[in-house]
Amino acid sequence: MKRIENADMSEYTSFRCGGKADLLLIPDTPDELREALLEATGNNGASSEGEDKARGVLMLGNGSDTLVRDGGYRGTVIKLGDGFSRIEIKGDRVTAGSAALLSQVAKAAAAESLSGLEPLSGIPGSVGGAVFMNAGAYGGEMKDVLESVTALSIKTGEITEIPADKLDLSYRHSVFSDTGDVILSAKMKLTQDDKETIEARMKDFTDRRNDKQPLQYPSAGSFFKRPEGYFAGKLIQDAGLRGMSVGGAQVSEKHAGFIINTGGATASDIIHLMRLVQNTVYDQFGVMLEPEVRIVGEE
Ligand SMILES: Cc1cc2nc3c(=O)[nH]c(=O)nc-3n(C[C@H](O)[C@H](O)[C@H](O)COP(=O)(O)OP(=O)(O)OC[C@H]3O[C@@H](n4cnc5c(N)ncnc54)[C@H](O)[C@@H]3O)c2cc1C
Repeated sequence: MKRIENADMSEYTSFRCGGKADLLLIPDTPDELREALLEATGNNGASSEGEDKARGVLMLGNGSDTLVRDGGYRGTVIKLGDGFSRIEIKGDRVTAGSAALLSQVAKAAAAESLSGLEPLSGIPGSVGGAVFMNAGAYGGEMKDVLESVTALSIKTGEITEIPADKLDLSYRHSVFSDTGDVILSAKMKLTQDDKETIEARMKDFTDRRNDKQPLQYPSAGSFFKRPEGYFAGKLIQDAGLRGMSVGGAQVSEKHAGFIINTGGATASDIIHLMRLVQNTVYDQFGVMLEPEVRIVGEE
């Protein structure tokens, strides 16, 4: 198992900023994962202390929806390694390890003429992160294709397969934010379609992203959740905040829903800008924007 002490989280998160984690462990097998959890929490979950101690563990996927504060993370970050990135296709079922990237899974599915992942193919996350967040785009979400998830209980170390309808999947939410269990793999049910048509749809979604999103800058995508009945980007734009910056953090000129790192932004710059946006939008429209980005670590 790979272990990195004082791991610089700017290297592991798409915002490219943030402090250091005390320890980063990269397990490649379920046994190594149990070992990592044991080391991080002081037990494998069998004791009743498991839940409290487990707060010192942060699961990280591709880091594309996570912002680590500048003081870093006092505890252990666990990122599943390549051993968890297998993609297996049988008939219309695709089973992908949590560390596989959504884009790789979508590509593999398209190669087998399987449709369903096209709208999600441009999301720069891992399968684990996409299940955790119930990631979605262009009218599709993980919930639409997910059949079941294999997860390791942080309390007992047991591995179980959980049907999708038991995962409490809703807008950017799954049961895993409550349980803290580790997602190992996801089984998706797709549908047969013409390969060229699938690839053309994927290209169309990619073109739309390139056209609308500031992809040349580090970010975590849309910073805020979509408030009921509104679009966060439109509210931010209408509040006159497009281009507003704090230090190296800026409300993107191209897409006001994105906060970008224009170079040298600290996590603190991003969080100050987030608060400025929240307060201004609230004062003007009475809507409190809630971050979609998971903000962790010490001030
Ligand atoms: C340019 C850009 C565009 C984006 N566009 C979209 C979009 O269109 N739609 C969308 O929904 N999101 C979008 N995002 C946000 C992000 O890519 C998604 O939320 C993605 O699903 C996060 O996956 P990740 O692996 O990077 O997660 P991370 O940021 O690593 O983790 C996210 C959460 O999942 C948890 N987690 C990760 N892996 C596991 C695991 N194996 N077991 C348990 N918990 C785990 C983490 O603890 C964390 O709380 C975008 C981001 C960027 C940078």
